[in-house]
Amino acid sequence: MCLAVLLPVSVTVFSLFHPKTLEAAPPRGHQIVVHTAGRDVALEWPHRMRFRLAGSPRATITGMDGGACDFVLSVPGRITRAYRGTGEVLTDGGELVAVVHMDTEIAVASIVAAESPPGAPMNALEAQAVVARSYLLAAGKRHKHSDFCDTTHCQFLRSPPPPDSQFSRAAGATRGLVLVYNGRPIEALYSANCGGRTRTLEQAGLTARGYPYFAVRCIAGGSPSGHRVGLCQEGAALMAKQGAGWRQILNHYFPGAGIESR
Ligand SMILES: [Zn+2]
Ligand SMILES: [Zn+2]
Repeated sequence: MCLAVLLPVSVTVFSLFHPKTLEAAPPRGHQIVVHTAGRDVALEWPHRMRFRLAGSPRATITGMDGGACDFVLSVPGRITRAYRGTGEVLTDGGELVAVVHMDTEIAVASIVAAESPPGAPMNALEAQAVVARSYLLAAGKRHKHSDFCDTTHCQFLRSPPPPDSQFSRAAGATRGLVLVYNGRPIEALYSANCGGRTRTLEQAGLTARGYPYFAVRCIAGGSPSGHRVGLCQEGAALMAKQGAGWRQILNHYFPGAGIESR
């Protein structure tokens, strides 16, 4: 599908809800087009379109020009989120599947907003943005219908944050920059708190492409949380509070890796 080529990041959303019904709508003041069953339906707020499993729907959601747009997806009564990009609804395994195709930088800002601990300083958010972007470039095709999902299985992702938010600014300040090793973007891992020392892939029983993870000392103590490989979010926030820049944070948790524009 041409939409996927234009928008490099694809994310299956709402799969935890195993949806039998989905709804697509334009945000207030917007229009969207739903392409389904051989016809194009223009929807103007507050109109919406409901997809039911029984109808075996297959649809794409775009702007009036066939490209990216702002749209709202819901599992009625369960969850509603706004997205920017194009949407896809299909049927598989007795449930509906919703896929959002989006620009890499929109995905990075959305992930930084969803994944960062509360109160993380700007330098830590910038380090998180580079790590999230590296993962997006290096770890693709993890799901049948998309590269990624919106849960911690891949990276947690909600609606894009406002453009003037610290999360969008952290993405913007590091735009296009990724961690590289042997000239290739690395599948950059991170977790909440390493407990004082990060772990190797072998110690954590994980695999990741492109980088031989090292166990590094970390200034964050406390009880470990997460797989403890790669960037420690707690430690990164503490380093930033003590004045470390985002490059210094990344050099600490990913020794030997470079930072390049992609
Ligand atoms: Zn996933
Ligand atoms: Zn740590």
